[in-house]
Amino acid sequence: MQRVRKCGSTVFLEGTQVERVLAAVRTGPGRTEIREFPMPDVPEDSALMRMEVAGICGTDVKLYKTPPSNAPVIMGHENIGTIAKAGREFTRRKGFKEGDLVFVEHYVMCGKCEWCHLGQYRHCENTDWRTNPEGIRYGYTSAERAPHLWGGFAQYVYLPWNAVVHRVPKGVTPELAGLVTPMANGVEWSLFDGGVGYDSTVLIQGPGQQGLSQTVVCKQAGASLIIVTGTSKDAARMKVAKELGADHVIDVQKEDPLARIKEITSGRGVDVTLDCTAGAGTLPILLGVEALKRKGGTIVVQGEMKEFPNFPLERVTVKFITIKSARGHSYKACELALAQLASKRFPLEKVTTHSFGLKDVDLAIRSVGGQGVPDVIHASLMPWK
Ligand SMILES: [Zn+2]
Ligand SMILES: [Zn+2]
Repeated sequence: MQRVRKCGSTVFLEGTQVERVLAAVRTGPGRTEIREFPMPDVPEDSALMRMEVAGICGTDVKLYKTPPSNAPVIMGHENIGTIAKAGREFTRRKGFKEGDLVFVEHYVMCGKCEWCHLGQYRHCENTDWRTNPEGIRYGYTSAERAPHLWGGFAQYVYLPWNAVVHRVPKGVTPELAGLVTPMANGVEWSLFDGGVGYDSTVLIQGPGQQGLSQTVVCKQAGASLIIVTGTSKDAARMKVAKELGADHVIDVQKEDPLARIKEITSGRGVDVTLDCTAGAGTLPILLGVEALKRKGGTIVVQGEMKEFPNFPLERVTVKFITIKSARGHSYKACELALAQLASKRFPLEKVTTHSFGLKDVDLAIRSVGGQGVPDVIHASLMPWK
């Protein structure tokens, strides 16, 4: 038997040094355990990333409360880190070398399909955990699958040849870069899907990190009117919304939002509505439909509800409304989001409100869900903190 000596998280076997990687593993609904994994071998075509910041979003809150499977999972799908070890082929093919600060999309592509060639890794079958149990997605894939490090709530993350990697621009801190995912969703949903541009009028429902990112992107794109709605508990977030460029904020518990929107737009309604309420039920969709202009508006929705009794289909067709599905982000949206962060044009440090260490993953997720530390907008999980 080999003799074992332990020093911090590093375990020394007699004669060899085997490093161990600490990770927070979701072991059941609302349950987290800190576990150790072996430091993986890094083949020539792969790399290892030392985690700096894993952003926590509303999806984490949902996946933590109601996991889609019983498998142990290292969550964390919005990952910023430094390339700690890069195989020669990895550097040759992808252009990244040790020491580079990068953002890794949570989609691990097949690299062969039509969607991958379009930079739309979100639609690649290889990344779809709903239909493809073999698919790999950071923050979703079982930690039982070698080499185990498939999530950002860990000291290191494994990058195979088909990881989708972006360079973080110079001058952007890891914490600021942690906003790239909501910002990329902002670009994708409001600009590419909603068609927001110069002189657009926009209703953004929900002032969380997603709604605030949409606010910045719509402002940058030239929207002439941005209205953000929230509830009374969102007072601090609504204040940030105004600082980031919202023209009006409406507390839907204190005012009739539709009457207020009609008043602001002189009865015209808005061009585009974006639902960023993360599953607040059917009301935001109904408000969105009514708040749109007389004909030809666009509503971007998230699929949080399995059923929608009495969906106003007739109203939608009479108003000639286009419904678009919010589904993650494309490669292009990520690049534009990173450029936006690098521009420092908006005070986004008002959004990155809190950071947590690895042992506080449970508290961090609950806080983003509104039950823990108060007034969290965006939480950065820093595994080395
Ligand atoms: Zn997310
Ligand atoms: Zn593909």
